[in-house]
Amino acid sequence: MNEDDVQKEPVGAEQDLSPGCEGVNNEGEVIASPRSLHSPHAPFVHLRGEVNDAKLLILLDISPDALVMVDQTGRIAFVNSQVEELFSYPRSELVGKQLEVLLPERFHAAHALHREHYAASPRTRPMGVGLDLYGRRKDGTEFPVDISLSPLLLNDTLHVLSAIRDITERRRLEERERAARKAAEARLALLQLILDEIPASVYIVTGSEARLVLANRATTTIWGTGWHIGQPMLDFLTTHHIRLLSSDGQPLPPAAFATLRAVQAGETVRHYQETIRHADGTTLPVLVNAVALGRRFLAGVPAEVGSHPIDPAEPVALVVHQDVTALKETERLKDEFIGIAAHELRTPLAILKGFAQTLIMQTARGKGPELVDWQVEALQSIDQATSRLVELTEDLLDVTRLQAGRLILQLEPTDLVALVQRVVTRLQMTTEHHTICVHKPQEHLVVQVDQRRIEQVLSNLIGNAIKYSPEGGLIEVTVREEAETKTALLSVSDHGIGIPAQQQSLVFGRFAQADNARAYGIGGTGLGLYLCRELVERHGGHIWFESVERQGSTFFVTLPIISVTELGL
Ligand code: ADP
Repeated sequence: MNEDDVQKEPVGAEQDLSPGCEGVNNEGEVIASPRSLHSPHAPFVHLRGEVNDAKLLILLDISPDALVMVDQTGRIAFVNSQVEELFSYPRSELVGKQLEVLLPERFHAAHALHREHYAASPRTRPMGVGLDLYGRRKDGTEFPVDISLSPLLLNDTLHVLSAIRDITERRRLEERERAARKAAEARLALLQLILDEIPASVYIVTGSEARLVLANRATTTIWGTGWHIGQPMLDFLTTHHIRLLSSDGQPLPPAAFATLRAVQAGETVRHYQETIRHADGTTLPVLVNAVALGRRFLAGVPAEVGSHPIDPAEPVALVVHQDVTALKETERLKDEFIGIAAHELRTPLAILKGFAQTLIMQTARGKGPELVDWQVEALQSIDQATSRLVELTEDLLDVTRLQAGRLILQLEPTDLVALVQRVVTRLQMTTEHHTICVHKPQEHLVVQVDQRRIEQVLSNLIGNAIKYSPEGGLIEVTVREEAETKTALLSVSDHGIGIPAQQQSLVFGRFAQADNARAYGIGGTGLGLYLCRELVERHGGHIWFESVERQGSTFFVTLPIISVTELGL
């Protein structure tokens, strides 16, 4: 084929089928014609002059698609080798046959009709848009195809060039994708169903603004109104005039919200108490757990929240709110009962203690008949036991006072070193198996505290060190200044039974006892450390510990130091 054999014209010129149309440029046309068949802008190919089958087949063979050229009566004029391969027909058996030979029978009638329409308005276009088209091989088997049609003038006669593509693989992939999408949708629907049946509020947020991704039904109940998918948390709260308060009723700054801490700082927040105050002034105490999640947990969730696309780089957090109104009410009733019982115990205990001490003292002074040794010992035991009972009732009363916000601190400048020394001397007298030594780099360290309360804290910590070192040993108490943080640091260190790692997070709770303490048969109420933490934190300090089971524990307390100027010295 020489350059004059082929001309192409723009699609818009397709009505003018006469030879010699303008826009002729033969360069590169041989390759351009079959390759451009799928494009709506494909050229209108115009073949003239000396064209024979062999030359045309060379042209058609270049295409990766199977190409079939039919004349106006639908008879096959040419096929390329891809057609032979695709339909398992030798070329010789196809040329001269009706095109229908390549189609399943059910398409024959419709195809004849289409051909007529096409002849009336020939242009480059896909065939059977919206239809599932199939080809039929020589052995009768069918396969899905995609067909593009282009009109073509061959020696001034209209022909149609069809490009046929086997789309079996594409269909298979589409089917697989559809099935995967359906499975993901089903999983998501099941997840939503399960979540909706959970009485706690469960939601997922994403991005530093905590936009809602997914929420269950209880989320609406907890917040008292619906939170729209895609809406940032703060926007939701301000729109609905909802406020978050701490457990003691103070407004929480956003940085303290469990949800924002998890999504902004990647923190894991557990058992955090918040109170939700709704627009109508009603409040709801909730316990919040918030955990930062890996992005992979959002696979299957729609790629955008509301109209906001989910950014794969943004953090995600899962938040669970549990309504603890009933729990709080039960706790309140329990505290009330403990408070009343402890209060009622005070008077009889005071009488018991008073008379036991009077008996001991008066006997010692020689008033009344002399007591034999066992009687004196019995009286001393009664005195010690009542002292212990008084301490216990005071602890119980403190718990109820703290819970009700009725514990008032009497702050005054106090020399912590002297306080430590006092407590150590008193407690050393209660044990012969332990040696309590004090490290005090400074002679004085003044802190602004409620003396009685800090003595209570220290007595608890040293008392525990004694109690939980059943084999005796050294107990070291340190009191020193931490200049950098302007704090006083107290520490109490023992070599006792230690606290098992998995229970260390519990021991500051109310009535909490570690298993190993029970296993050693060491009694206690589990109130001491709870009171210590509450008291220290109310002084603006911190308390924590390090402990290794069977090796010992060290408890640390920090308290703010008062500077000389603050003291007015
Ligand atoms: P308790 O009255 O039981 O001593 P606390 O609140 O003082 O209550 O302590 C809580 C729990 O912490 C104890 O039951 C014990 O298991 C553990 N614990 C506290 N201090 C120590 C310590 N120094 N060594 C080992 N375990 C301790």
